[in-house]
Amino acid sequence: MISQNVSLKKYSTFKIGGPAKFFAEPKSIAEIRELLMFCKKNNEKFFILGNGSNVLFSDNGYDGLVIKIGKNLEAGKSLHDVIQAAANKGLGGIEKLEGIPGTIGGAIFMNAGAHGQQISDCIKSVVSVTTYGEIVTRTNEECKFSYRNSAFRMLDEIIVSAEFDFTPMPKEAIKSNRKEVLTWRREKQPLKYPNAGSVFKNPTSNLPLSGSNLSAGYLIDSCGLKGCRVGDAEVSELHANFIVNRGNATASDVKALMEKIVQEVKKKHGIVLEPEICIF
Ligand SMILES: Cc1cc2nc3c(=O)[nH]c(=O)nc-3n(C[C@H](O)[C@H](O)[C@H](O)COP(=O)(O)OP(=O)(O)OC[C@H]3O[C@@H](n4cnc5c(N)ncnc54)[C@H](O)[C@@H]3O)c2cc1C
Repeated sequence: MISQNVSLKKYSTFKIGGPAKFFAEPKSIAEIRELLMFCKKNNEKFFILGNGSNVLFSDNGYDGLVIKIGKNLEAGKSLHDVIQAAANKGLGGIEKLEGIPGTIGGAIFMNAGAHGQQISDCIKSVVSVTTYGEIVTRTNEECKFSYRNSAFRMLDEIIVSAEFDFTPMPKEAIKSNRKEVLTWRREKQPLKYPNAGSVFKNPTSNLPLSGSNLSAGYLIDSCGLKGCRVGDAEVSELHANFIVNRGNATASDVKALMEKIVQEVKKKHGIVLEPEICIF
């Protein structure tokens, strides 16, 4: 079940990352427990991976076990599949998350959102496995969702499934919302090159310039950083809050470019941008 020395490049939408010392894709909770036992016995750390659409792996890889949550577990299903299955029954509420290339587990961990909807809007409860192999069920409130955040960021737990509370909606309305956001994504996001979505969180509204909904993209663009490069990492010309991999970008390139962005935005606007992507 456990492979060794597995390149993480193909498991990240950025197409960046060195090898994982150990790598496994469990098919059940029982297998997750076995992997956790393996880590305890061998004193190895572990990292939970969904679709890798919000991570930047180190060029040195990961010195431990990467546990990939794939489709065999409910949390490994794609957001698209869940939105589609709900839509077939005339249920909506997170249909505007269509096009976000994550798994349910990753979306819950990050509280993924777009166009005024976030996954937490439709979560009734979440089931996770602790490092001791215990199963815990948390209500929506107990998940402590906020902007791109949840209690799971502070917990070393593996999300395995969730119960949803969708909203009955006319099928046509769901279809039209999904179509609209997909068109928007195709026009506004640099989908031609490997990337990990928005690199920085949008600053909150109690900041110097504010009152407004300042977006990280606007702030970066206003510093003239579109097209700025370090190695093969480039601030997208299409959307300034995306860094794209123009070929052989390394994690060091992306980190150096992020550092430059943070400095320039701070100098011009007095705002310190916080990363949205998970960096390892
Ligand atoms: C083109 C593009 C567009 C995007 N647009 C958006 C957008 O509009 N809105 C938005 O919010 N995001 C967006 N993203 C970012 C990303 O797709 C979401 O954050 C997504 O929810 C991450 O899911 P994932 O399965 O890929 O998680 P991963 O990237 O694999 O992991 C992200 C984090 O979640 C943790 N994690 C993953 N699965 C589990 C689990 N089962 N249990 C515990 N922890 C887990 C990981 O340890 C990691 O820390 C975009 C990304 C891309 C590439």
